[in-house]
Amino acid sequence: MSSAQVKDVDVVVIGAGMIGAICACLLARANPSLMIALIESRPYQDLRGGDFDPRVSAITERTRRLLDGCGLWDAIARERICGYTKMEVWDAEGTGRVRFNCDDLGASNLGHIVENCVLQGAAIDALDDYDNLILYCPEIVQSIAPALADGSTVVQLDSGQALCTRLLIGADGAASQVRRATGLATREWDYRQSAIVACVETEKAHLDTAWQSFMPTGPMALLPLPSDREAHFCSLVWSQDSAVAEALMALDDDQFCRQLGVASEHCLGQVLAVKPRFLVPLRQRHALDYIAPGVALVGDAAHSIHPLAGQGVNLGFADIQVLVEEISRAQRRGCDIGALATLKRFQRRRKADNLSMMVAMEFFQRLFASPQLTVRALRNAGMRQFDRSPGLKQSIIRRAMGL
Ligand SMILES: Cc1cc2nc3c(=O)[nH]c(=O)nc-3n(C[C@H](O)[C@H](O)[C@H](O)COP(=O)(O)OP(=O)(O)OC[C@H]3O[C@@H](n4cnc5c(N)ncnc54)[C@H](O)[C@@H]3O)c2cc1C
Repeated sequence: MSSAQVKDVDVVVIGAGMIGAICACLLARANPSLMIALIESRPYQDLRGGDFDPRVSAITERTRRLLDGCGLWDAIARERICGYTKMEVWDAEGTGRVRFNCDDLGASNLGHIVENCVLQGAAIDALDDYDNLILYCPEIVQSIAPALADGSTVVQLDSGQALCTRLLIGADGAASQVRRATGLATREWDYRQSAIVACVETEKAHLDTAWQSFMPTGPMALLPLPSDREAHFCSLVWSQDSAVAEALMALDDDQFCRQLGVASEHCLGQVLAVKPRFLVPLRQRHALDYIAPGVALVGDAAHSIHPLAGQGVNLGFADIQVLVEEISRAQRRGCDIGALATLKRFQRRRKADNLSMMVAMEFFQRLFASPQLTVRALRNAGMRQFDRSPGLKQSIIRRAMGL
């Protein structure tokens, strides 16, 4: 490769999903002297999103503040988002029920439901604001290899261009090429569950409430979407044992709506209609290390968890917030941004937090899947007791809000 084809940049971010695109914006904003390249394999128009994205995320207050801090929240808030003020969680096999209300915290909401394409589109639009940020898209990464001389990394692109960088950030999702190329191992297992994701219309208004039922075969969430007086919409995330999920996918729309109505115990009346349904296999994955010299993993590239508490992307946002803080700190001190000492600080601050959330998700998933009568009785009694403990409820909900 001739040196004319190799471009030196300070940071390469691979993956312009929600986490990668917003990471690049944050980094460019906090460090105008750093030259950043963002590489994405999908076509540009796919990143901007379309009319409606069936994939939504429950965004915590911590994430909202992060997006506000990098100037993205106003653009997001102008789009199709829905603040939720209450949450109602119940055990489909018993009498346990827990209600959360933002009034108990003196807050105006518990979080926001935002279409993924809205989050990502806002970040993609903002890329143009930064002179120190270049988007390569669509672009395929052919290889990732250490440079021989100085510990930097060379990213070879299909178009013939190569990028040489001090810091490579892998934001390329659960099947991360960066993770594989740098030999960062994972601990992973299949939940043997899949999530059915769709937008549904319900008979009754959702009352700005996130509804979640735990069934033995998996949790079902109805998340509030913008609606009007005539029509009420929710985003469905229905995780089920894979065989059950496939059988539900095979039903026609009317049969599916009837089944969903029964499964949701008609908490929002009849389910009147369902838009196209998507099936997403669920797998837990955690990189044993998020870092190697000159390399850091963020978002789903580092960890993917069960969607039952809607925390996955919020953990990714916390990753990029901390990584950018550590890069800025290294810059201020004149240290190498790709040095292991810099990256270790990032890993130390994020890994325990991510791990504790993964353990909590695993606990809840197993707790509600258990068919044992004693476990069922105990969890229902526990839920009732928890619902009557305002202090404990407040501390849990504050944690779920990332505060
Ligand atoms: C059913 C379901 C519901 C969920 N609900 C919630 C929720 O309510 N709240 C929440 O916080 N989280 C939720 N999550 C989790 C959340 O969706 C993920 O954590 C989030 O999408 C991860 O974002 P990411 O940017 O890290 O990865 P991705 O969204 O996977 O983005 C990766 C990007 O990298 C690109 N890419 C991949 N490989 C390459 C390559 N080699 N070169 C260039 N580009 C590449 C891809 O095209 C993509 O644009 C849910 C997940 C599921 C499955």
